[in-house]
Amino acid sequence: MKEWAASRWMPRKLILVSNRGPYTVKNVNGRRQVERAVGGLVTALEPAARSLPTVWVAWAGSPCGETSCSPDEVSEFAWEQVTLTQEEVDKYYGGFANQALWPLCHYFIDKCRFDRSHWDAYTWVNKKFALQAFRHTTGNSLIWVHDYQLALVPHYLRSYGAANIGFFWHIPFPPPDVLGILPWCREVLRGLLGSDVIGFHVQQYVDNFLRCAETLLNLNVDYDRGVVQYHGRSIRVVALPVGIDASTYAALGKRSDTLEAAAAIRQKVGTGMVALAVDRLDYSKGILERIEALARFWARYESYRGRLSLIQIAAPTRSAVPAYRDLRRQVEEAVGRINGLFGREDWVPVYYYYRSFPQHELAAYYTAADAALVTPLRDGLNLVAKEYVATRQNDGVLVLSRFAGVVEELREAVVVNPYDADGFGTKLKAALEMPAAERRRRMQILAERVKQRDLEWWLGSFITLLAGKETGEVLVKRIGKSKRAVAKLSGELLEEAARA
Ligand code: UDP
Repeated sequence: MKEWAASRWMPRKLILVSNRGPYTVKNVNGRRQVERAVGGLVTALEPAARSLPTVWVAWAGSPCGETSCSPDEVSEFAWEQVTLTQEEVDKYYGGFANQALWPLCHYFIDKCRFDRSHWDAYTWVNKKFALQAFRHTTGNSLIWVHDYQLALVPHYLRSYGAANIGFFWHIPFPPPDVLGILPWCREVLRGLLGSDVIGFHVQQYVDNFLRCAETLLNLNVDYDRGVVQYHGRSIRVVALPVGIDASTYAALGKRSDTLEAAAAIRQKVGTGMVALAVDRLDYSKGILERIEALARFWARYESYRGRLSLIQIAAPTRSAVPAYRDLRRQVEEAVGRINGLFGREDWVPVYYYYRSFPQHELAAYYTAADAALVTPLRDGLNLVAKEYVATRQNDGVLVLSRFAGVVEELREAVVVNPYDADGFGTKLKAALEMPAAERRRRMQILAERVKQRDLEWWLGSFITLLAGKETGEVLVKRIGKSKRAVAKLSGELLEEAARA
Protein backbone atom coordinates (compact mmCIF):
# COMPACT_ATOMS: atom_id res chain seq x y z
CA MET A 1 0.00 0.00 0.00
CA LYS A 2 2.83 2.35 0.95
CA GLU A 3 4.64 1.56 -2.28
CA TRP A 4 1.49 2.23 -4.29
CA ALA A 5 1.07 5.58 -2.55
CA ALA A 6 4.70 6.49 -3.22
CA SER A 7 4.55 5.56 -6.91
CA ARG A 8 1.29 7.44 -7.34
CA TRP A 9 3.09 10.63 -6.37
CA MET A 10 6.15 10.05 -8.49
CA PRO A 11 6.36 12.86 -11.06
CA ARG A 12 5.61 11.51 -14.50
CA LYS A 13 8.27 11.49 -17.16
CA LEU A 14 7.95 14.26 -19.76
CA ILE A 15 9.06 13.76 -23.35
CA LEU A 16 9.34 17.09 -25.14
CA VAL A 17 9.48 16.99 -28.92
CA SER A 18 10.29 20.12 -30.92
CA ASN A 19 12.11 21.04 -34.11
CA ARG A 20 14.77 23.15 -32.37
CA GLY A 21 15.91 22.12 -28.94
CA PRO A 22 17.80 23.70 -26.08
CA TYR A 23 21.22 23.37 -27.73
CA THR A 24 22.77 23.88 -31.13
CA VAL A 25 25.55 21.54 -32.16
CA LYS A 26 27.95 22.93 -34.75
CA ASN A 27 30.94 21.51 -36.50
CA VAL A 28 33.55 24.30 -36.36
CA ASN A 29 36.77 23.39 -38.22
CA GLY A 30 36.22 19.73 -37.45
CA ARG A 31 35.56 20.37 -33.75
CA ARG A 32 32.16 19.87 -32.21
CA GLN A 33 30.80 23.02 -30.58
CA VAL A 34 27.70 23.00 -28.39
CA GLU A 35 25.91 26.31 -27.90
CA ARG A 36 22.78 27.25 -26.01
CA ALA A 37 19.99 27.82 -28.52
CA VAL A 38 18.01 31.05 -28.33
CA GLY A 39 14.35 31.45 -29.22
CA GLY A 40 10.92 31.85 -27.71
CA LEU A 41 9.97 28.17 -27.74
CA VAL A 42 13.12 27.02 -25.96
CA THR A 43 12.75 29.75 -23.32
CA ALA A 44 9.13 28.73 -22.78
CA LEU A 45 9.82 25.01 -22.34
CA GLU A 46 13.03 25.04 -20.31
CA PRO A 47 11.36 25.56 -16.91
CA ALA A 48 9.24 22.44 -17.53
CA ALA A 49 12.30 20.43 -18.59
CA ARG A 50 14.08 21.48 -15.39
CA SER A 51 11.12 20.68 -13.16
CA LEU A 52 9.95 17.25 -14.33
CA PRO A 53 12.09 14.24 -15.28
CA THR A 54 12.47 15.11 -18.96
CA VAL A 55 13.88 13.87 -22.22
CA TRP A 56 13.90 16.53 -24.92
CA VAL A 57 13.98 15.19 -28.47
CA ALA A 58 14.94 17.83 -31.05
CA TRP A 59 17.02 18.64 -34.09
CA ALA A 60 20.37 20.20 -33.16
CA GLY A 61 20.15 22.98 -35.73
CA SER A 62 22.92 21.86 -38.05
CA PRO A 63 22.46 19.48 -40.95
CA CYS A 64 24.95 16.75 -40.15
CA GLY A 65 24.85 13.30 -38.71
CA GLU A 66 28.36 13.10 -37.40
CA THR A 67 28.26 15.92 -34.84
CA SER A 68 26.76 13.91 -32.07
CA CYS A 69 26.60 15.25 -28.58
CA SER A 70 26.39 13.69 -25.20
CA PRO A 71 23.62 15.68 -23.58
CA ASP A 72 24.76 15.03 -20.03
CA GLU A 73 27.85 17.14 -20.70
CA VAL A 74 25.87 20.31 -21.14
CA SER A 75 22.43 20.05 -19.64
CA GLU A 76 20.55 19.35 -16.44
CA PHE A 77 17.96 17.31 -18.32
CA ALA A 78 18.37 14.62 -20.94
CA TRP A 79 18.46 15.90 -24.45
CA GLU A 80 18.62 13.81 -27.57
CA GLN A 81 19.19 15.14 -31.04
CA VAL A 82 17.43 13.98 -34.17
CA THR A 83 20.08 14.03 -36.88
CA LEU A 84 19.00 15.30 -40.28
CA THR A 85 20.81 15.38 -43.60
CA GLN A 86 21.19 18.62 -45.57
CA GLU A 87 18.52 17.42 -48.02
CA GLU A 88 16.08 16.62 -45.20
CA VAL A 89 16.62 20.07 -43.66
CA ASP A 90 16.16 21.82 -47.01
CA LYS A 91 12.93 20.00 -47.85
CA TYR A 92 11.27 19.39 -44.49
CA TYR A 93 12.23 22.66 -42.76
CA GLY A 94 13.20 25.16 -45.47
CA GLY A 95 10.64 23.62 -47.86
CA PHE A 96 7.37 22.32 -46.44
CA ALA A 97 7.44 23.98 -43.00
CA ASN A 98 8.65 27.40 -44.09
CA GLN A 99 7.43 27.68 -47.69
CA ALA A 100 4.06 25.92 -47.36
CA LEU A 101 2.70 25.81 -43.78
CA TRP A 102 4.18 29.08 -42.49
CA PRO A 103 2.91 31.36 -45.31
CA LEU A 104 -0.43 29.51 -45.52
CA CYS A 105 -1.15 29.82 -41.79
CA HIS A 106 -0.23 33.53 -41.94
CA TYR A 107 -2.57 34.03 -44.94
CA PHE A 108 0.27 34.74 -47.41
CA ILE A 109 -1.11 32.42 -50.06
CA ASP A 110 0.90 33.96 -52.90
CA LYS A 111 4.11 33.07 -51.02
CA CYS A 112 3.19 29.37 -50.68
CA ARG A 113 5.16 26.76 -52.56
CA PHE A 114 3.61 23.29 -52.63
CA ASP A 115 6.10 20.66 -53.71
CA ARG A 116 5.48 16.92 -53.48
CA SER A 117 9.12 16.20 -52.60
CA HIS A 118 8.92 18.71 -49.70
CA TRP A 119 5.81 16.96 -48.41
CA ASP A 120 7.47 13.54 -48.69
CA ALA A 121 10.46 14.78 -46.71
CA TYR A 122 8.13 16.32 -44.10
CA THR A 123 6.30 13.01 -43.54
CA TRP A 124 9.58 11.09 -43.38
CA VAL A 125 11.22 13.51 -40.92
CA ASN A 126 8.06 13.60 -38.75
CA LYS A 127 8.25 9.80 -38.62
CA LYS A 128 11.89 10.03 -37.54
CA PHE A 129 11.02 12.39 -34.68
CA ALA A 130 8.09 10.17 -33.63
CA LEU A 131 10.18 6.98 -33.61
CA GLN A 132 12.92 8.60 -31.58
CA ALA A 133 10.43 10.03 -29.06
CA PHE A 134 8.54 6.73 -28.85
CA ARG A 135 11.70 4.92 -27.70
CA HIS A 136 11.55 6.97 -24.49
CA THR A 137 7.92 6.28 -23.62
CA THR A 138 7.05 4.32 -20.51
CA GLY A 139 3.65 3.33 -19.09
CA ASN A 140 2.50 6.72 -17.87
CA SER A 141 4.93 9.11 -19.57
CA LEU A 142 3.64 12.34 -21.09
CA ILE A 143 4.59 13.41 -24.58
CA TRP A 144 4.37 17.08 -25.51
CA VAL A 145 4.98 17.86 -29.20
CA HIS A 146 5.48 21.40 -30.48
CA ASP A 147 4.62 23.43 -33.50
CA TYR A 148 3.90 23.31 -37.19
CA GLN A 149 7.12 21.56 -38.18
CA LEU A 150 5.89 18.40 -36.42
CA ALA A 151 2.14 18.22 -37.14
CA LEU A 152 2.23 14.52 -38.08
CA VAL A 153 4.17 13.33 -35.02
CA PRO A 154 1.05 12.75 -32.82
CA HIS A 155 -0.45 10.51 -35.52
CA TYR A 156 2.70 8.37 -35.82
CA LEU A 157 3.13 8.17 -32.03
CA ARG A 158 -0.45 6.98 -31.65
CA SER A 159 0.04 4.39 -34.40
CA TYR A 160 3.04 2.99 -32.49
CA GLY A 161 0.82 2.63 -29.39
CA ALA A 162 1.73 5.76 -27.42
CA ALA A 163 -0.83 7.62 -25.28
CA ASN A 164 -0.95 10.88 -23.24
CA ILE A 165 0.03 12.99 -26.22
CA GLY A 166 -0.21 16.78 -26.12
CA PHE A 167 0.44 19.17 -28.98
CA PHE A 168 0.90 22.94 -29.01
CA TRP A 169 0.53 24.85 -32.28
CA HIS A 170 2.46 28.14 -31.90
CA ILE A 171 1.37 29.99 -35.06
CA PRO A 172 -2.09 31.08 -36.31
CA PHE A 173 -4.45 28.31 -37.40
CA PRO A 174 -6.43 29.30 -40.51
CA PRO A 175 -10.10 28.65 -41.35
CA PRO A 176 -11.11 25.79 -43.71
CA ASP A 177 -11.18 27.88 -46.89
CA VAL A 178 -7.50 28.78 -46.33
CA LEU A 179 -6.24 25.44 -44.94
CA GLY A 180 -8.17 23.70 -47.72
CA ILE A 181 -5.72 25.23 -50.25
CA LEU A 182 -3.03 22.88 -48.96
CA PRO A 183 -3.05 19.66 -51.05
CA TRP A 184 -2.29 17.66 -47.86
CA CYS A 185 -4.63 19.52 -45.48
CA ARG A 186 -6.45 16.33 -44.38
CA GLU A 187 -3.22 14.54 -43.57
CA VAL A 188 -2.10 17.51 -41.45
CA LEU A 189 -5.41 17.51 -39.55
CA ARG A 190 -5.27 13.72 -39.00
CA GLY A 191 -1.67 14.11 -37.85
CA LEU A 192 -2.70 16.57 -35.14
CA LEU A 193 -5.70 14.47 -34.13
CA GLY A 194 -3.33 11.75 -32.90
CA SER A 195 -3.10 13.96 -29.79
CA ASP A 196 -5.25 13.89 -26.64
CA VAL A 197 -4.97 17.65 -26.06
CA ILE A 198 -4.26 20.29 -28.72
CA GLY A 199 -3.41 23.82 -27.63
CA PHE A 200 -3.59 27.07 -29.58
CA HIS A 201 -2.87 30.61 -28.43
CA VAL A 202 -6.34 32.06 -28.86
CA GLN A 203 -9.99 31.08 -29.25
CA GLN A 204 -10.10 32.16 -32.90
CA TYR A 205 -7.54 29.48 -33.83
CA VAL A 206 -9.43 26.89 -31.76
CA ASP A 207 -12.62 27.74 -33.63
CA ASN A 208 -10.80 27.58 -36.99
CA PHE A 209 -9.37 24.16 -36.11
CA LEU A 210 -12.76 22.83 -35.06
CA ARG A 211 -14.33 24.11 -38.28
CA CYS A 212 -11.54 22.45 -40.31
CA ALA A 213 -12.11 19.13 -38.51
CA GLU A 214 -15.84 19.40 -39.17
CA THR A 215 -15.80 20.54 -42.79
CA LEU A 216 -12.61 18.95 -44.18
CA LEU A 217 -12.82 15.62 -42.30
CA ASN A 218 -16.58 15.40 -41.60
CA LEU A 219 -15.95 14.84 -37.91
CA ASN A 220 -18.27 15.37 -34.98
CA VAL A 221 -17.35 18.57 -33.17
CA ASP A 222 -18.61 20.09 -29.92
CA TYR A 223 -17.87 23.82 -30.20
CA ASP A 224 -18.97 24.66 -26.65
CA ARG A 225 -16.71 22.12 -24.97
CA GLY A 226 -13.92 22.29 -27.58
CA VAL A 227 -13.98 18.56 -28.31
CA VAL A 228 -13.49 16.59 -31.56
CA GLN A 229 -14.56 12.94 -31.81
CA TYR A 230 -12.01 10.94 -33.78
CA HIS A 231 -11.57 7.16 -33.98
CA GLY A 232 -13.54 6.66 -30.76
CA ARG A 233 -11.48 9.21 -28.81
CA SER A 234 -12.46 12.67 -27.53
CA ILE A 235 -9.76 15.22 -28.29
CA ARG A 236 -9.66 18.41 -26.21
CA VAL A 237 -8.88 21.59 -28.16
CA VAL A 238 -8.02 24.59 -25.97
CA ALA A 239 -6.92 28.22 -26.15
CA LEU A 240 -3.92 28.83 -23.86
CA PRO A 241 -1.73 31.81 -24.83
CA VAL A 242 1.95 31.35 -23.98
CA GLY A 243 3.06 33.56 -21.11
CA ILE A 244 6.43 35.17 -20.36
CA ASP A 245 8.53 35.23 -17.20
CA ALA A 246 6.87 38.52 -16.25
CA SER A 247 8.66 38.98 -12.93
CA THR A 248 12.08 38.84 -14.62
CA TYR A 249 11.08 41.58 -17.09
CA ALA A 250 9.57 43.68 -14.28
CA ALA A 251 12.83 43.35 -12.33
CA LEU A 252 14.91 44.19 -15.42
CA GLY A 253 12.82 47.33 -15.97
CA LYS A 254 13.76 48.60 -12.48
CA ARG A 255 17.47 47.78 -12.53
CA SER A 256 19.81 50.77 -12.49
CA ASP A 257 21.93 49.42 -15.39
CA THR A 258 18.76 49.10 -17.52
CA LEU A 259 17.75 52.67 -16.67
CA GLU A 260 21.23 53.95 -17.51
CA ALA A 261 21.29 52.06 -20.82
CA ALA A 262 17.81 53.40 -21.65
CA ALA A 263 18.91 56.97 -20.94
CA ALA A 264 21.93 56.45 -23.22
CA ILE A 265 19.65 55.20 -26.03
CA ARG A 266 17.40 58.26 -25.69
CA GLN A 267 20.39 60.56 -25.65
CA LYS A 268 21.81 58.97 -28.78
CA VAL A 269 18.49 59.30 -30.62
CA GLY A 270 18.25 62.86 -29.37
CA THR A 271 14.58 63.42 -30.25
CA GLY A 272 11.77 64.04 -27.79
CA MET A 273 10.04 60.74 -28.56
CA VAL A 274 11.14 57.22 -29.34
CA ALA A 275 8.99 54.56 -31.00
CA LEU A 276 10.33 50.99 -30.94
CA ALA A 277 9.71 47.89 -33.03
CA VAL A 278 11.36 44.50 -32.37
CA ASP A 279 10.79 41.63 -34.81
CA ARG A 280 12.43 38.77 -36.58
CA LEU A 281 12.90 39.96 -40.17
CA ASP A 282 9.83 38.05 -41.37
CA TYR A 283 7.24 39.22 -43.93
CA SER A 284 4.44 38.40 -41.46
CA LYS A 285 5.72 41.08 -39.07
CA GLY A 286 4.69 44.03 -41.27
CA ILE A 287 8.08 45.80 -41.01
CA LEU A 288 7.89 47.34 -44.48
CA GLU A 289 4.27 48.44 -43.99
CA ARG A 290 5.18 50.00 -40.61
CA ILE A 291 8.10 51.98 -42.03
CA GLU A 292 5.94 53.21 -44.92
CA ALA A 293 3.16 54.17 -42.46
CA LEU A 294 5.71 56.17 -40.46
CA ALA A 295 6.86 57.93 -43.65
CA ARG A 296 3.22 58.88 -44.32
CA PHE A 297 2.98 60.05 -40.69
CA TRP A 298 5.97 62.40 -41.00
CA ALA A 299 4.64 63.69 -44.32
CA ARG A 300 1.22 64.37 -42.77
CA TYR A 301 2.25 65.71 -39.33
CA GLU A 302 5.19 68.05 -39.88
CA SER A 303 5.48 68.85 -36.18
CA TYR A 304 6.67 65.27 -35.57
CA ARG A 305 9.64 65.70 -37.90
CA GLY A 306 12.68 66.08 -35.69
CA ARG A 307 10.56 65.06 -32.69
CA LEU A 308 9.91 61.32 -33.18
CA SER A 309 12.35 58.60 -34.25
CA LEU A 310 11.66 54.93 -34.88
CA ILE A 311 14.12 52.30 -33.68
CA GLN A 312 13.57 49.14 -35.73
CA ILE A 313 15.32 46.02 -34.45
CA ALA A 314 15.18 43.28 -37.10
CA ALA A 315 16.58 39.96 -35.92
CA PRO A 316 17.99 37.77 -38.72
CA THR A 317 15.93 34.67 -39.57
CA ARG A 318 15.58 31.99 -42.31
CA SER A 319 17.99 33.80 -44.62
CA ALA A 320 18.20 30.68 -46.85
CA VAL A 321 14.57 31.17 -47.95
CA PRO A 322 14.41 33.55 -50.99
CA ALA A 323 11.37 35.52 -49.70
CA TYR A 324 13.36 36.49 -46.58
CA ARG A 325 16.39 37.68 -48.57
CA ASP A 326 14.10 39.82 -50.78
CA LEU A 327 12.40 41.29 -47.73
CA ARG A 328 15.71 42.32 -46.18
CA ARG A 329 16.67 44.18 -49.35
CA GLN A 330 13.27 45.91 -49.52
CA VAL A 331 13.33 46.97 -45.86
CA GLU A 332 16.86 48.33 -46.08
CA GLU A 333 16.02 50.19 -49.27
CA ALA A 334 12.93 51.74 -47.60
CA VAL A 335 14.91 52.82 -44.51
CA GLY A 336 17.55 54.45 -46.74
CA ARG A 337 14.92 56.20 -48.86
CA ILE A 338 12.96 57.55 -45.89
CA ASN A 339 16.05 58.70 -43.99
CA GLY A 340 17.26 60.40 -47.18
CA LEU A 341 13.89 62.05 -47.75
CA PHE A 342 13.13 63.35 -44.25
CA GLY A 343 16.42 63.16 -42.33
CA ARG A 344 18.21 66.30 -41.16
CA GLU A 345 21.60 66.95 -39.70
CA ASP A 346 20.13 66.80 -36.20
CA TRP A 347 17.55 64.02 -36.77
CA VAL A 348 17.56 60.44 -38.02
CA PRO A 349 13.95 59.28 -38.64
CA VAL A 350 14.64 55.51 -38.59
CA TYR A 351 17.40 53.69 -36.70
CA TYR A 352 17.65 50.19 -38.13
CA TYR A 353 19.56 47.30 -36.54
CA TYR A 354 19.82 43.99 -38.37
CA ARG A 355 20.93 41.81 -35.47
CA SER A 356 19.67 39.95 -32.45
CA PHE A 357 19.90 41.56 -28.99
CA PRO A 358 20.10 39.67 -25.67
CA GLN A 359 17.26 39.99 -23.16
CA HIS A 360 18.86 42.64 -20.91
CA GLU A 361 19.64 44.91 -23.88
CA LEU A 362 16.10 44.53 -25.22
CA ALA A 363 14.83 45.54 -21.76
CA ALA A 364 16.82 48.81 -22.09
CA TYR A 365 15.19 49.49 -25.48
CA TYR A 366 11.74 48.72 -24.01
CA THR A 367 12.46 51.16 -21.17
CA ALA A 368 13.65 53.87 -23.57
CA ALA A 369 10.57 53.69 -25.81
CA ASP A 370 7.59 56.02 -25.43
CA ALA A 371 5.65 53.65 -27.64
CA ALA A 372 6.13 50.06 -28.83
CA LEU A 373 4.80 49.44 -32.33
CA VAL A 374 3.82 45.76 -32.48
CA THR A 375 2.05 45.77 -35.82
CA PRO A 376 2.37 42.41 -37.59
CA LEU A 377 0.22 41.64 -40.63
CA ARG A 378 -0.48 38.31 -38.93
CA ASP A 379 1.08 36.80 -35.80
CA GLY A 380 0.26 33.70 -33.76
CA LEU A 381 0.61 35.63 -30.49
CA ASN A 382 3.61 38.03 -30.14
CA LEU A 383 5.74 37.89 -27.04
CA VAL A 384 7.44 41.25 -27.65
CA ALA A 385 4.14 42.98 -26.76
CA LYS A 386 4.03 41.11 -23.44
CA GLU A 387 7.71 41.81 -22.72
CA TYR A 388 7.25 45.56 -23.32
CA VAL A 389 4.26 45.69 -21.00
CA ALA A 390 5.96 43.63 -18.27
CA THR A 391 9.09 45.79 -18.43
CA ARG A 392 7.22 49.13 -18.35
CA GLN A 393 4.58 48.30 -15.71
CA ASN A 394 2.98 51.74 -15.58
CA ASP A 395 4.18 53.89 -18.45
CA GLY A 396 4.59 53.80 -22.22
CA VAL A 397 2.00 53.01 -24.89
CA LEU A 398 1.49 49.75 -26.72
CA VAL A 399 0.34 50.14 -30.33
CA LEU A 400 -0.90 46.72 -31.39
CA SER A 401 -2.06 45.15 -34.64
CA ARG A 402 -5.56 43.72 -34.66
CA PHE A 403 -4.03 40.71 -36.45
CA ALA A 404 -1.67 39.73 -33.61
CA GLY A 405 -3.10 36.87 -31.51
CA VAL A 406 -2.10 38.70 -28.34
CA VAL A 407 -4.74 41.37 -29.00
CA GLU A 408 -7.31 38.98 -27.47
CA GLU A 409 -5.54 39.43 -24.11
CA LEU A 410 -4.17 42.97 -24.43
CA ARG A 411 -7.33 44.84 -25.35
CA GLU A 412 -6.29 48.07 -23.60
CA ALA A 413 -3.55 48.64 -26.20
CA VAL A 414 -4.10 51.15 -29.02
CA VAL A 415 -5.27 48.76 -31.74
CA VAL A 416 -4.43 49.46 -35.40
CA ASN A 417 -4.90 47.90 -38.81
CA PRO A 418 -1.34 47.60 -40.20
CA TYR A 419 -2.65 47.58 -43.79
CA ASP A 420 -4.24 51.02 -43.34
CA ALA A 421 -1.32 53.48 -43.30
CA ASP A 422 -3.48 56.59 -42.72
CA GLY A 423 -5.51 54.97 -39.94
CA PHE A 424 -2.23 53.77 -38.39
CA GLY A 425 -0.93 57.37 -38.41
CA THR A 426 -4.08 58.77 -36.81
CA LYS A 427 -3.95 56.16 -34.04
CA LEU A 428 -0.20 56.63 -33.54
CA LYS A 429 -0.73 60.38 -33.03
CA ALA A 430 -3.47 59.67 -30.49
CA ALA A 431 -1.19 57.18 -28.71
CA LEU A 432 1.71 59.64 -28.53
CA GLU A 433 -0.57 62.41 -27.27
CA MET A 434 -2.49 60.27 -24.77
CA PRO A 435 -2.77 61.98 -21.35
CA ALA A 436 -0.28 60.57 -18.84
CA ALA A 437 -2.97 59.34 -16.43
CA GLU A 438 -4.73 57.39 -19.19
CA ARG A 439 -1.42 55.94 -20.38
CA ARG A 440 -0.58 54.73 -16.87
CA ARG A 441 -4.04 53.31 -16.27
CA ARG A 442 -3.95 51.24 -19.45
CA MET A 443 -0.41 50.01 -18.90
CA GLN A 444 -1.14 48.95 -15.32
CA ILE A 445 -4.12 46.85 -16.45
CA LEU A 446 -2.04 45.26 -19.22
CA ALA A 447 0.89 44.54 -16.88
CA GLU A 448 -1.40 42.87 -14.34
CA ARG A 449 -2.87 40.62 -17.03
CA VAL A 450 0.58 39.64 -18.35
CA LYS A 451 1.63 38.84 -14.76
CA GLN A 452 -1.47 36.72 -14.11
CA ARG A 453 -1.01 34.64 -17.24
CA ASP A 454 2.74 34.20 -17.08
CA LEU A 455 4.91 31.33 -18.25
CA GLU A 456 4.34 29.30 -15.10
CA TRP A 457 0.57 29.61 -15.61
CA TRP A 458 0.85 28.45 -19.23
CA LEU A 459 3.04 25.42 -18.48
CA GLY A 460 1.00 24.45 -15.43
CA SER A 461 -2.30 24.78 -17.30
CA PHE A 462 -1.26 22.67 -20.27
CA ILE A 463 0.35 19.94 -18.16
CA THR A 464 -2.72 19.89 -15.90
CA LEU A 465 -4.96 19.34 -18.92
CA LEU A 466 -2.72 16.61 -20.26
CA ALA A 467 -1.76 14.85 -17.06
CA GLY A 468 -4.17 15.92 -14.33
CA LYS A 469 -4.04 18.37 -11.44
CA GLU A 470 -1.39 16.61 -9.37
CA THR A 471 1.32 16.73 -12.02
CA GLY A 472 0.37 20.31 -12.97
CA GLU A 473 0.70 21.42 -9.35
CA VAL A 474 4.01 19.63 -8.84
CA LEU A 475 5.33 21.39 -11.95
CA VAL A 476 4.23 24.85 -10.87
CA LYS A 477 5.58 24.35 -7.34
CA ARG A 478 8.96 23.25 -8.67
CA ILE A 479 9.18 26.11 -11.17
CA GLY A 480 8.36 28.51 -8.35
CA LYS A 481 11.19 27.08 -6.24
CA SER A 482 13.77 27.03 -9.00
CA LYS A 483 12.85 30.43 -10.42
CA ARG A 484 15.63 32.32 -8.72
CA ALA A 485 18.16 29.71 -9.78
CA VAL A 486 16.92 29.83 -13.36
CA ALA A 487 17.05 33.65 -13.42
CA LYS A 488 20.57 33.55 -12.07
CA LEU A 489 21.63 30.96 -14.60
CA SER A 490 20.24 32.89 -17.55
CA GLY A 491 21.89 36.05 -16.18
CA GLU A 492 25.25 34.29 -16.15
CA LEU A 493 24.75 32.94 -19.64
CA LEU A 494 23.86 36.39 -20.92
CA GLU A 495 26.99 37.86 -19.39
CA GLU A 496 28.97 35.09 -21.01
CA ALA A 497 27.33 35.86 -24.38
CA ALA A 498 28.07 39.57 -23.96
CA ARG A 499 31.74 38.81 -23.19
CA ALA A 500 31.98 36.56 -26.27
N1 UDP B 1 14.12 38.52 -29.36
C1 UDP B 1 15.40 38.55 -28.86
N2 UDP B 1 16.31 39.39 -29.43
C2 UDP B 1 16.01 40.19 -30.49
C3 UDP B 1 14.70 40.15 -31.01
C4 UDP B 1 13.78 39.31 -30.42
O1 UDP B 1 15.71 37.85 -27.89
O2 UDP B 1 16.89 40.92 -30.97
C5 UDP B 1 13.13 37.66 -28.70
C6 UDP B 1 12.03 38.48 -28.05
O3 UDP B 1 12.46 38.92 -26.78
C7 UDP B 1 10.88 37.47 -28.00
C8 UDP B 1 11.15 36.57 -29.20
O4 UDP B 1 12.47 36.84 -29.64
O5 UDP B 1 10.94 36.70 -26.82
C9 UDP B 1 10.19 36.84 -30.35
O6 UDP B 1 8.96 36.27 -30.05
P1 UDP B 1 7.61 36.77 -30.74
O7 UDP B 1 6.51 35.96 -30.19
O8 UDP B 1 7.47 38.25 -30.60
O9 UDP B 1 7.82 36.47 -32.30
P2 UDP B 1 8.36 35.18 -33.09
O10 UDP B 1 9.78 35.51 -33.44
O11 UDP B 1 8.22 34.00 -32.17
O12 UDP B 1 7.51 35.10 -34.32
